[in-house]
Amino acid sequence: MKRYTIICRDQELSSLVAKNLHPKLQAIGMIHDLEQPELIITIGGDGTLLHAVHSFLDHLEDVAFIGLHTGTLGFFTDYTSEEIDEFVNDLQNEHRIVSTPLIHIECFNGGLRHDLYAMNEGRIENIIKTQTMDVYIDDEYLEKFRGNGLCVSAQIGSTAYNRSIDGAIIDSQIQALQLTEISGIHHKFFRSLKNPIILHPQTKISLRAESFEGAMLVYDHLNIDLHKTTRVDFTLGDKEVRFLRLRPVSYFSRLRNLF
Ligand code: NAP
Ligand code: MN
Repeated sequence: MKRYTIICRDQELSSLVAKNLHPKLQAIGMIHDLEQPELIITIGGDGTLLHAVHSFLDHLEDVAFIGLHTGTLGFFTDYTSEEIDEFVNDLQNEHRIVSTPLIHIECFNGGLRHDLYAMNEGRIENIIKTQTMDVYIDDEYLEKFRGNGLCVSAQIGSTAYNRSIDGAIIDSQIQALQLTEISGIHHKFFRSLKNPIILHPQTKISLRAESFEGAMLVYDHLNIDLHKTTRVDFTLGDKEVRFLRLRPVSYFSRLRNLF
């Protein structure tokens, strides 16, 4: 993996780290290639790597990602910016590629279909009025939900937005789709499941409504308005992100670093 590019957070420290890194990479024979990189090095946070994945969505099979964090280790980042010498050294040793599936999100609007992808999660959220929607699992009706919305996350996104709405953290060895409520309504006359539900990775989750007027589909750091959409399907796996792993970083050390 000789051809690389660096994507850095718009921040002085990240640019400085990038400036120091270029000559060190070139000294070990790496070639800076903005057009056809094989390795995407991100400098910043998990958010920086997330943004980078979206900008390479059409070339994911040709590239691998590795992140340097300017804070503490993250979930997508394996080195801190203080460890660039170690990183450059490790680049010359053996490596592994670890893949993680993206969530494929299909929005149906009459006869039109819109395809989107997310690494962490896709959520339908209506902060203006109560959103009612029906939940189907593999086309079988599960329940009617009422509240602000529902979040569908992948294993890798289980520590992101999902965690702040009390979803479960899923170990990195388990691929799954998790459906978590966002401010669900539960009382004497109406209730939905309430608990997060973790589904096997081949499941299709379909969220359907007579109207999603006023609701947004927020997927990773991006969003679209759902007016005229009546159904949104979520599945895992027709695209995946490849991470370059140079040294073992345990999932639990990442978790310990987060809190
Ligand atoms: P952002 O500022 O780039 O990200 C928000 C925070 O989420 C940052 O602290 C980021 O870490 C962290 N993060 C991102 N992915 C993570 C993961 N898989 N596990 C643990 N932490 C993670 O904001 P943005 O540009 O809107 O990014 C979108 C992502 O942020 C979404 O996918 C969503 O999951 C997450 N988010 C979380 C909340 C919440 O928890 N209430 C609210 C909004 C968005 P770094 O500092 O390392 O970048
Ligand atoms: Mn961001």
